Amino acid sequence: MYKIPKDDKVVLAIRDVLAKYKVVNSQRKLKELVERELNQGGENFHVGERRVRLLAIHTGIAQVEVHGREMETRAPLTSCPVCGSELKKSKNMTVFGGTVTIGYKCDTCSYWTGVKRRVPVRYDFSIKRHPRH
Ligand SMILES: [Zn+2]
Repeated sequence: MYKIPKDDKVVLAIRDVLAKYKVVNSQRKLKELVERELNQGGENFHVGERRVRLLAIHTGIAQVEVHGREMETRAPLTSCPVCGSELKKSKNMTVFGGTVTIGYKCDTCSYWTGVKRRVPVRYDFSIKRHPRH
Protein backbone atom coordinates (compact mmCIF):
# COMPACT_ATOMS: atom_id res chain seq x y z
CA MET A 1 0.00 0.00 0.00
CA TYR A 2 1.30 3.43 -0.85
CA LYS A 3 0.38 6.79 0.61
CA ILE A 4 -0.57 10.09 -0.99
CA PRO A 5 1.37 12.98 0.54
CA LYS A 6 -0.27 16.32 1.34
CA ASP A 7 0.47 19.33 -0.90
CA ASP A 8 2.74 21.13 1.59
CA LYS A 9 4.85 18.00 2.03
CA VAL A 10 5.29 17.67 -1.74
CA VAL A 11 6.14 21.37 -2.09
CA LEU A 12 8.86 21.11 0.55
CA ALA A 13 10.29 18.05 -1.17
CA ILE A 14 10.30 19.83 -4.56
CA ARG A 15 12.12 22.77 -2.98
CA ASP A 16 14.72 20.50 -1.37
CA VAL A 17 15.27 18.58 -4.60
CA LEU A 18 15.72 21.77 -6.65
CA ALA A 19 18.02 23.29 -4.04
CA LYS A 20 20.15 20.15 -4.20
CA TYR A 21 20.18 19.52 -7.97
CA LYS A 22 19.73 23.11 -9.31
CA VAL A 23 18.26 21.90 -12.60
CA VAL A 24 16.15 18.82 -13.18
CA ASN A 25 15.69 18.25 -16.88
CA SER A 26 12.61 16.09 -17.00
CA GLN A 27 9.28 15.84 -15.32
CA ARG A 28 9.69 12.13 -14.65
CA LYS A 29 13.09 12.70 -13.05
CA LEU A 30 11.64 15.42 -10.81
CA LYS A 31 8.83 13.12 -9.73
CA GLU A 32 11.32 10.34 -8.92
CA LEU A 33 13.60 12.66 -6.96
CA VAL A 34 10.65 14.09 -5.05
CA GLU A 35 9.45 10.59 -4.15
CA ARG A 36 12.94 9.64 -3.03
CA GLU A 37 13.00 12.78 -0.86
CA LEU A 38 9.59 11.99 0.60
CA ASN A 39 10.49 8.37 1.32
CA GLN A 40 13.76 8.96 3.14
CA GLY A 41 12.14 7.81 6.36
CA GLY A 42 11.23 4.48 4.80
CA GLU A 43 7.71 5.50 3.90
CA ASN A 44 5.93 4.73 0.67
CA PHE A 45 4.62 7.97 -0.79
CA HIS A 46 3.61 8.26 -4.41
CA VAL A 47 3.09 11.45 -6.41
CA GLY A 48 1.97 11.92 -9.99
CA GLU A 49 4.19 13.71 -12.51
CA ARG A 50 1.45 16.17 -13.38
CA ARG A 51 0.78 16.96 -9.73
CA VAL A 52 4.47 17.70 -9.12
CA ARG A 53 4.58 19.97 -12.16
CA LEU A 54 1.45 21.91 -11.20
CA LEU A 55 2.58 22.37 -7.58
CA ALA A 56 6.04 23.48 -8.70
CA ILE A 57 4.53 26.13 -10.98
CA HIS A 58 1.57 27.36 -8.96
CA THR A 59 3.44 27.76 -5.68
CA GLY A 60 6.05 29.78 -7.55
CA ILE A 61 8.97 27.77 -6.17
CA ALA A 62 10.18 26.59 -9.56
CA GLN A 63 11.20 28.15 -12.80
CA VAL A 64 9.97 25.95 -15.62
CA GLU A 65 11.37 25.94 -19.10
CA VAL A 66 9.09 24.27 -21.61
CA HIS A 67 10.50 22.46 -24.61
CA GLY A 68 7.92 22.02 -27.32
CA ARG A 69 7.54 20.35 -30.65
CA GLU A 70 5.55 21.99 -33.41
CA MET A 71 2.47 20.12 -34.43
CA GLU A 72 -0.22 20.79 -36.99
CA THR A 73 -3.52 21.34 -35.21
CA ARG A 74 -6.41 23.74 -35.57
CA ALA A 75 -8.12 22.94 -32.31
CA PRO A 76 -8.39 26.13 -30.23
CA LEU A 77 -6.31 26.35 -27.07
CA THR A 78 -8.54 27.07 -24.11
CA SER A 79 -6.01 26.84 -21.30
CA CYS A 80 -2.29 26.43 -20.82
CA PRO A 81 -1.24 22.82 -21.54
CA VAL A 82 1.56 23.18 -19.00
CA CYS A 83 -0.10 24.71 -15.94
CA GLY A 84 -3.80 25.02 -16.74
CA SER A 85 -3.90 28.83 -16.48
CA GLU A 86 -5.72 31.09 -18.88
CA LEU A 87 -3.73 31.92 -22.00
CA LYS A 88 -3.27 35.35 -23.48
CA LYS A 89 -3.62 35.79 -27.22
CA SER A 90 -0.74 37.42 -29.02
CA LYS A 91 -2.14 39.59 -31.75
CA ASN A 92 -0.75 41.37 -34.77
CA MET A 93 -2.25 44.14 -36.84
CA THR A 94 -3.25 43.13 -40.33
CA VAL A 95 -2.86 45.33 -43.39
CA PHE A 96 -6.64 45.71 -43.36
CA GLY A 97 -6.61 47.41 -39.97
CA GLY A 98 -7.88 44.45 -37.98
CA THR A 99 -6.01 42.10 -35.72
CA VAL A 100 -5.10 38.48 -36.15
CA THR A 101 -4.13 36.01 -33.46
CA ILE A 102 -0.57 34.87 -34.08
CA GLY A 103 -0.19 32.77 -30.96
CA TYR A 104 -0.76 32.41 -27.27
CA LYS A 105 1.28 32.89 -24.16
CA CYS A 106 0.95 32.03 -20.50
CA ASP A 107 1.80 34.57 -17.79
CA THR A 108 1.99 31.94 -15.05
CA CYS A 109 4.60 29.66 -16.58
CA SER A 110 6.81 30.26 -19.59
CA TYR A 111 4.68 28.46 -22.16
CA TRP A 112 4.09 30.14 -25.50
CA THR A 113 3.01 28.95 -28.90
CA GLY A 114 2.68 30.34 -32.38
CA VAL A 115 0.10 29.54 -35.01
CA LYS A 116 1.88 26.23 -35.41
CA ARG A 117 1.12 24.63 -32.06
CA ARG A 118 4.06 24.00 -29.75
CA VAL A 119 3.15 20.88 -27.86
CA PRO A 120 5.15 20.48 -24.61
CA VAL A 121 7.43 17.47 -24.75
CA ARG A 122 9.95 18.14 -22.00
CA TYR A 123 10.45 20.43 -19.03
CA ASP A 124 13.46 21.87 -17.23
CA PHE A 125 12.80 22.70 -13.59
CA SER A 126 15.05 24.96 -11.57
CA ILE A 127 14.65 26.82 -8.33
CA LYS A 128 13.23 30.30 -8.47
CA ARG A 129 15.40 32.86 -6.76
CA HIS A 130 12.56 35.09 -5.69
CA PRO A 131 9.42 33.07 -4.95
CA ARG A 132 6.12 34.86 -5.33
CA HIS A 133 5.23 34.89 -1.62
ZN1 LIG B 1 1.12 28.04 -18.13
